Amino acid sequence: MNYWSDDCIFCSIEKGQSVASIFYKDELVIGFMEIAPVNEGHCLIIPRVHASCMADLEEETARHMFAVCQKTAAALRRSGMECEGVNMFLADGEAASQTVFHVHMHVIPRYKGDRFKVDWGPSETMSREELDIAATRIRDAL
Ligand SMILES: [Zn+2]
Repeated sequence: MNYWSDDCIFCSIEKGQSVASIFYKDELVIGFMEIAPVNEGHCLIIPRVHASCMADLEEETARHMFAVCQKTAAALRRSGMECEGVNMFLADGEAASQTVFHVHMHVIPRYKGDRFKVDWGPSETMSREELDIAATRIRDAL
């Protein structure tokens, strides 16, 4: 794993070579405002080390990243910006709609009537047997 990737916009922000509205920085992660926000306060938390996907991210960094996301969500609720709830969204892989290949968690303030939409209907109903088989496959892979 490289510390930085030369063609990565988030590494460029980490190095201070690209402008971002940064609200948090420590030894492992940075938090800054999403440039195309769904709602005011929509922000991103990224590891300072380049990791294109979750599998490349060290577990300690992933844990810390989530802890900072939790604190950020609480801060959004106290910020005075419209925030009745929070969604966190992490796209891991192109098929999952990842477009910047440096791990990042979206932390999105939500309120009734906002523009954020989740089109998340079940593609099919699975039987208990099928669910148990899926659980076994995941358990065996852990
Ligand atoms: Zn990067």
